[in-house]
Amino acid sequence: MDFTFSPQQQQWQRIAREFAQTRVCPIAREMDESGKMPHSLVSEMATLGLLGATIGKAYGGSEMDHLSLALIYEELGRACSSVRGFMTVHSSLVMQCINYWGSEDQKKKLLPLLARGETIGCYALTEPEAGSDAAAIQTTAQKIEGGYLLNGEKIWITNGNIAGLAIVFAKLDPIKDAKPHNNITAFLVPLDQPDIDRRAMRGQELGHRASDHANITFKNCFVSEDMILDGEGMGFKVAMSALEHGRLGVAAGALGVHQACFDASVDYTRKRRQFGQRIGDFEMVQSTIAEMKASLDASRLLVYRAAWLKDQGQPSKLETSIAKYYATEAAAKAASEAVLLHGNRGYSNEYPVERYYRDIKGLQIYEGTSHIQQIVIAREVLGKDEAKS
Ligand SMILES: Cc1cc2nc3c(=O)[nH]c(=O)nc-3n(C[C@H](O)[C@H](O)[C@H](O)COP(=O)(O)OP(=O)(O)OC[C@H]3O[C@@H](n4cnc5c(N)ncnc54)[C@H](O)[C@@H]3O)c2cc1C
Repeated sequence: MDFTFSPQQQQWQRIAREFAQTRVCPIAREMDESGKMPHSLVSEMATLGLLGATIGKAYGGSEMDHLSLALIYEELGRACSSVRGFMTVHSSLVMQCINYWGSEDQKKKLLPLLARGETIGCYALTEPEAGSDAAAIQTTAQKIEGGYLLNGEKIWITNGNIAGLAIVFAKLDPIKDAKPHNNITAFLVPLDQPDIDRRAMRGQELGHRASDHANITFKNCFVSEDMILDGEGMGFKVAMSALEHGRLGVAAGALGVHQACFDASVDYTRKRRQFGQRIGDFEMVQSTIAEMKASLDASRLLVYRAAWLKDQGQPSKLETSIAKYYATEAAAKAASEAVLLHGNRGYSNEYPVERYYRDIKGLQIYEGTSHIQQIVIAREVLGKDEAKS
């Protein structure tokens, strides 16, 4: 493995860093307090080619490799998890999913609009009774002439109020197969319909407060038959493959949060003086800084390895889950330590570390909690119990 960045990777990193530091960082606190991300940021990300991500130029994308995309998420995550979260859902969960599973017509029709940021995408899997256990969803799709009627409720949907298009997972009704996974279908649903009720969650979140989250209810919502991704009953496979792309984005975003915690802590412990010396000269503080740096470097290597494997076309399920698990846990520890090192200032919004501390909890939860990543890792390592199958 050679992590010397190619000229293109360096360029994407430079573009993302400049955008994140000059356009996002200065307004990150204001966005967190107002609970809103200005739409102009979406347009700027589209113009810079960030939203086009790994999608081919033929569909209006930027055709970058996965390592470049990880570098972009790292830079955005360093500035603001809400902005990074917006893009991970839009570009990695929705666009990469359509690119992989969509028909030629679906790709031609939808991907250019999404790459230009003219339509925003969201991914609607979670329900009140189905979180980690995605196969337990209760939203139904009833087949009628020319299409399907969707009924059900989705919760915690990032971009849900601002999106024009959702990938919605629903179970065929009546159920055709005894195995719950086999009944799930992925639907591409235009959201500007009267049979769809969207309720904003603004003000209810611990972190990611500038992200847009919605609870979405479908009441006899018609979806035409050409809006299925990869056929009836293929939805569980589609959902899991999208999450694998999303997990790499979350891992890279966590790496960015970790870097921001580290930078803030180094800066503060160099300046703050107590007992007649800078606090960075106390050995216990040095131990914290050393641990933060060692785990930061470990996360970075794990995230880049997962991206590199994807770029080689090699299987990366195990390595992506390891990266997501380790990078989010390490960043959560770093954020907690960063607040402690800043003392009472870390506990107030005078410094951004309290925002990192609130935001990082979301990264441990969505796209498979840390427990679920541990399950994936253990299953990949141990394999199936042949006696049971
Ligand atoms: C900021 C944010 C944004 C989100 N955006 C989206 C989105 O865009 N689209 C979407 O569909 N969803 C979204 N979600 C929902 C998210 O994907 C779910 O919250 C997540 O999958 C966990 O489900 P749950 O919250 O129902 O927790 P549960 O599944 O109820 O889990 C609760 C606890 O039990 C543990 N647990 C569950 N099962 C097991 C097991 N088998 N073994 C060990 N422990 C277990 C979990 O790890 C967790 O600690 C978002 C959530 C957040 C916080």
